[in-house]
Amino acid sequence: MSQVPAAQFSIPERVTGFVEGRCTGAGGYELEVIHPGDGRRIATLVESSPAEVDAAVRSARAAFEDGRWRRQTVEARQAVMRQVADLVDVHREELAYLECMNSGIPMRHLQRGQIPRTAHNFRFFAEFLGQHAGKMYDQTEGYLTLVLREPVGVAALIGPWNAPLALTSMKIAGAIAFGNSCVCKPSEVTPLAVARFMELLVEAGVPPGVVNLVNGRGGVTGEALVAHPGVDLVSFTGGTQTARRISASAGEGLKPLSLELGGKSANIIFESADLERAIDGALLGIFSNNGQQCLAGSRILVQRAVLDRFIESFVARTRRLRLGDPLDPATEIGPLAFRAHRDRVASYVEVARADGAQVLCGGQAEAALEPGFFFQPTAVLAQDNRARVCREEIFGPFATIVPFDTADQAFAMANDSEFGLVSYVWTDHHPTLMRALSDIRAGMVWANTPMTRDLRAPFGGIKSSGYGREGGESSMKFYTYEKTAMLPTVLPAIPRLGA
Ligand code: NAD
Repeated sequence: MSQVPAAQFSIPERVTGFVEGRCTGAGGYELEVIHPGDGRRIATLVESSPAEVDAAVRSARAAFEDGRWRRQTVEARQAVMRQVADLVDVHREELAYLECMNSGIPMRHLQRGQIPRTAHNFRFFAEFLGQHAGKMYDQTEGYLTLVLREPVGVAALIGPWNAPLALTSMKIAGAIAFGNSCVCKPSEVTPLAVARFMELLVEAGVPPGVVNLVNGRGGVTGEALVAHPGVDLVSFTGGTQTARRISASAGEGLKPLSLELGGKSANIIFESADLERAIDGALLGIFSNNGQQCLAGSRILVQRAVLDRFIESFVARTRRLRLGDPLDPATEIGPLAFRAHRDRVASYVEVARADGAQVLCGGQAEAALEPGFFFQPTAVLAQDNRARVCREEIFGPFATIVPFDTADQAFAMANDSEFGLVSYVWTDHHPTLMRALSDIRAGMVWANTPMTRDLRAPFGGIKSSGYGREGGESSMKFYTYEKTAMLPTVLPAIPRLGA
């Protein structure tokens, strides 16, 4: 392992909620915050009780009603949002450090990806806010019909542990850009960076109460938040089972809901592809972020004519991936986020074997790095798409390779899934590419490229991958409602009842 710089930033001893611009909660149920690199407790999370959730929602509601944020001019809100982005840039090393220590995501990934993305989320929505237009119809004689966009109110924003700040900040930026207030509930596993971000929001000029934070277990804090009558809408990113519970509760309150859930995304490699590029893309697609990505290309479908060449190179490079301390800038794969998750990922090796799959490399917890929660980057060759490792989201550095013969088979296999989040296709044959765009049923198709995001465009899935979309106009539609106003251009004659 190469030299890792000593810790430069302090980690708070206790992490609490953040309501009305201040940290809350002197006491309550406590959870350990663990560094997955060595299993050490690095902080204590004080859970927000339902009473504290109530205080957070009331704070957000008061901020919304008195208009301290939503009634500011667009220019003023844009300036504050740009200031948030600037502060993220200033504190990028600290935020990356907190996220790395808490989640085990390698520093290189945080520094190049997730932390700049956090700043970008705010700059993007600041710009978007200055550009989008309402609608006006003038076909009804004597009238102008205006369609305005109004903020919905108080948003509950619930996030997962695999990209805590990048994903939560996308929700916060989308919600507050249009004048909403919000209460965030990050994963109880990874509260550190989001908690620090709350302070930066206030420092940048977001009025206290506009963005509040509650922390704790999903079944306690999360459920209290979704069910709270003061919450108007819910944006959730997380697992499919959790989404079912949240849907039931949000449905009870008729609250609009956006669900960004899991995937088992197909990465289709045709013999007509530039194989070297496809292998680069396949490795990134499954092993970035320690394999803990909703949009992982975790089902690698390879045309039989290039299967042997693909496997030889993919496995050799997988074996060379640098596993180690996530703080080390050279590390490519860090520990998984928590022990139970690592053990769950590891359990899929036996699941794969039981279905007749061949383990090509990896397949074990990394004993040399115990007590950290490391798992060797793993590739298995499944006999066909019916294997459980083709059907279930594993959410770790675990690639499943499946052969196919024809394009028809490839697209049928890609679509034969409970999920439909994203997909990747590699081919230099234009007609095959065009068929992929039309035949694959998923919220996104990346063609001859690894994952890249354009925040203007919608992102989201179908089937068990959720519904609703995030991204410029899609976020605007979710976080606002349309209000129609009719203005007469000449005063209309009014029939006089009872005259
Ligand atoms: P999870 O569903 O266990 O938890 C997500 C969040 O929901 C956490 O904050 C948790 O505390 C909270 N929660 C749990 N039960 C709740 C309840 N009953 N009421 C309210 N809140 C509750 O998911 P996870 O394990 O943290 O994250 C991994 C999952 O997230 C994977 O399935 C992954 O694919 C998915 N994900 C999807 C996207 C996307 O954009 N589609 C992005 C990242 C992760």
